[in-house]
Amino acid sequence: MALIVQKYGGTSVGNCERIKRVASRVATYRLRGDQVVVVVSAMSGVTDNLLKLSNEISQLPNEREMDVLLSTGEQVTIALLAMALHELEMPAVSLTGAQAGIVTDGVHTKAKIQNITPKKVHEMLDAGNVVIVAGFQGQTAKGQITTLGRGGSDLTAIALAAALKADLCQIYTDVDGVYTSDPRVVPNAKKINEVAYEEMLELASLGAKVMQARSVEFAQKFKVVFEVRSSLNNNPGTIVKAETKSMEDVVVRGVSLDKNQAKVTLVAVPDKPGMAARIFGALASASINVDMIVQNASHGAGAAATDLTFTVDKSELVKTRKVIESLQKEVLCREVLVDESIGKLSIVGVGMRTHSGVAAKLFETLASEKVNVEMISTSEIKISVVIRAAQAESASRAVHRAFLER
Ligand code: ADP
Ligand code: ASP
Ligand code: MG
Repeated sequence: MALIVQKYGGTSVGNCERIKRVASRVATYRLRGDQVVVVVSAMSGVTDNLLKLSNEISQLPNEREMDVLLSTGEQVTIALLAMALHELEMPAVSLTGAQAGIVTDGVHTKAKIQNITPKKVHEMLDAGNVVIVAGFQGQTAKGQITTLGRGGSDLTAIALAAALKADLCQIYTDVDGVYTSDPRVVPNAKKINEVAYEEMLELASLGAKVMQARSVEFAQKFKVVFEVRSSLNNNPGTIVKAETKSMEDVVVRGVSLDKNQAKVTLVAVPDKPGMAARIFGALASASINVDMIVQNASHGAGAAATDLTFTVDKSELVKTRKVIESLQKEVLCREVLVDESIGKLSIVGVGMRTHSGVAAKLFETLASEKVNVEMISTSEIKISVVIRAAQAESASRAVHRAFLER
């Protein structure tokens, strides 16, 4: 008898018909004699609607209350799926994250899982139930409700698979697997059969929202092999696992695009030791994730000043501004410029370690599309550029053509 963890995303449980279809799929596995733990997201659009409601009340809502609000979405789905399974005469029980023993730190809205004590899950499984766990949520050791960041149901599934030592972990979504680029943006994107954790992690961190980046990090750390596949058909999906030698033969595995970033420039910051530490220290204390950073001489502000540009998630802009304002006494910059019309385009592949000329080809491709590169960052296995948002999708298609189509 195998233990299977299955996760169904928002679209897969987007209406009652789809919830019934999920119930039949779950029942098929259960009837084969396997134990099944199902993790579900909120129905599609529900989390976004909850966010919208909170924004109508407050621009910077209290984060503890945000978690109380956001965690309700998943609770609806677990109950409905349990009912759908009952209709099939299949014993099933729903559990919130806290009931499933998911303990997190106290960083509200993007909490990290500290440990899982799945005692109840085991008990319920042993009693013959399908166990349905609410994704995206947990509880601190002191009993506060927390959420795990957008897309966090993926993390719930991977972490549960690790804690339960599951034999199989399947992530069901609305595409057939992980593609060489977002198929909604690049129609020629192809499904990838196997992808290394490292590549999946970069693709996800850089905008491929098919998997939450943190969940991939967790899978890599705890060696959870998982499959991303469609809830709408039975096609084999994409296996995400440790790197194998042959994976290096492919130079570029995929192209990611992130349009949720904003560029913040602090103009004419005093050019003296400790400034960057002060600014990025304050942002880190507010749990704001800064991505790319570029510093250059300030235009016309004399030798003693520098412009500091960095990118943050758009959802953290209000908080970022507040932090910068609070620093204005110490870090006197001339002005703060915010640019939300950017896109971050990236190419990723473990093969980049052993192949040269990749950056040159990327820049040539962008140049031939008349795309101006505003920021660049690289690592061993990726190159990212910040470009105008308006050109980002056509640039993605051109870059995909250059590296992944022939
Ligand atoms: P779920 O609700 O199942 O968690 P998401 O909406 O979070 O699903 O993620 C699935 C979506 O991710 C797909 O519909 C697709 O548009 C998008 N996506 C972005 N990049 C990729 C990629 N490289 N491969 C597959 N899908 C991708
Ligand atoms: N419902 C949450 C979100 O929309 C978590 C998830 O879907 O994974 O981000
Ligand atoms: Mg998702």
